[in-house]
Amino acid sequence: MTQASAPITQDVLTIPRKLPEPGLTNIVGLGRDALRAALIAAGTPEKQAKMRVNQIWQWVYVWGARDFDGMTNLAKSYRAELAENFYIGLPEMVSRQISSDGTQKYLARIAGGHEVEVVYIPEEDRGTLCISSQVGCTLTCSFCHTGTQKLVRNLTAAEIVGQIMMARDDLDDWPRPGEAYGERPRLISNIVLMGMGEPLYNFDAVRDAMKIAMDGEGISLSRRRITLSTSGVVPEIARCAEEIGCMLAISFHATTDEVRDRLVPINKKWPIAELLEALRKYPKASNSERITFEYVMLKDVNDSDEDAHRLIKLIKGIPAKINLIPFNEWPGAPYQRSDWARIKRFADIIYKAGYASPIRTPRGEDIMAACGQLKSATERARKSRAEIAAEIGEA
Ligand code: SAH
Ligand code: SF4
Repeated sequence: MTQASAPITQDVLTIPRKLPEPGLTNIVGLGRDALRAALIAAGTPEKQAKMRVNQIWQWVYVWGARDFDGMTNLAKSYRAELAENFYIGLPEMVSRQISSDGTQKYLARIAGGHEVEVVYIPEEDRGTLCISSQVGCTLTCSFCHTGTQKLVRNLTAAEIVGQIMMARDDLDDWPRPGEAYGERPRLISNIVLMGMGEPLYNFDAVRDAMKIAMDGEGISLSRRRITLSTSGVVPEIARCAEEIGCMLAISFHATTDEVRDRLVPINKKWPIAELLEALRKYPKASNSERITFEYVMLKDVNDSDEDAHRLIKLIKGIPAKINLIPFNEWPGAPYQRSDWARIKRFADIIYKAGYASPIRTPRGEDIMAACGQLKSATERARKSRAEIAAEIGEA
C-alpha cells in the first residue's frame, strides 16, 4: 500500500463547552428505565414519567438536542426543572484530522482530561464509525499500538454512546429542522467496537451504550450493523449474543498456541481450543450471522500457506468469514506487513475452501487512523518491560 500524498487537514476545535454544574445527572447513557427512575427522583410525577422519557429520548437520540430549552413539547416550567437537575453531556471533540482518503479521526476528551480516538470511515455503501471502549488497554497484543499504552480507565456508557453522538454532530448526521426522519441517508450506518480497549473487559457499559444505540425510537442502529471485536475473553463471549445481540468479531491472528501466545497474550489464559469451543457454542452464529475472524498479516510470522490451511481446519463447522488485515505499521513496531502477493495467496487458499476472505483496505494511514494505530496523544506513557511481562504472565 502506498502512503497517501495529498494534504491532510487538521482542525483544532476550540468550541467552548459549558461544563455541567456539579450534582447534575447526565441524561446521555441512562437506559429508558434508569432515565425514568432519575426523572421520578427529581420530582416528575410517576404517572407522567413514561411519557416524559419518550419525549426526552426522542429529543436527545432522534433529533440530537443538546439542551432542554428547545424541547418545545414540554412545558416551560418542566424544561426549567429538567435543567436544574440534568444535563446532556457528550465527550468534547478536541481535534479532527481528515485523511486524503476521506477517513476522519477525532480526538474526544472525556472526564478527567483523558482522550480517546474515534474514526469515521466513509465507503460507497456505508459509513462506519470505529469507537473506543477503554482509555488504553490492559492487554498487550504485541502488534497493537494501543497495547503499549496503560489502561487508564473504562469508559462509561455515556462516553461510549456519546462518541457516536459527537461524530453525528460533526458530520451533521441528525435530521435537519423540517426534514422527515430518515429522509436523508445516514452517514453513520455501522458501528465497530474496534477502537481502543477490549470491549468485553468493560462489558456492562458497552452493553448499556449499544442498547441505547439500537433503540428503535432513537439512534436506531440495527444490531446487525454493530460489530464487537474481542481478543478472546472466553467467559464473556456468550453474553455478547445474549445481552447485546450484535455481530461478533474475534481477533484470531494465529493458528498455533505458540504463535498466538506471542501475538495475543490473552491466549495463555484462554488458548485456541477453548476459544473455538466458545465460538462453536455461540448462540447467535448461523449462516446469516457469521462470526468474523480477524487475521492480521504479519510477514513471516503467521502468513504461510500452512497457516492458511490450519486456519481453515480450525474453524471448520463455525459459520465464519475471515477478514485479513494487512498489518498497519507504527513507529517502533516489531513486525512488518506481509507482501501483497503473500496476502493474496493466503486469501486465495481461504476463498477456495469456501470462505469469504476480504482483505481490509487500510484506511487513514496518513493520519494514523488505521486499525490498531489508535493511541491518544496525552497517554503516551509506555509500559515498562516488567509491566508487560507481569500482565502477560497474568493473562
Ligand atoms: N481490543 C479489541 C478491539 C480493538 S482492536 C480486539 O483486540 O479485538 C481492532 C482490531 O485491530 C483487532 O482485530 C486488532 O487485533 C487489530 N489490530 C490491532 N493492531 C493492529 C495493527 N497494527 N494492524 C492491523 N490490525 C491491528
Ligand atoms: Fe487491546 Fe485489542 Fe490492542 Fe490487543 S489488539 S492490545 S486487546 S486493543
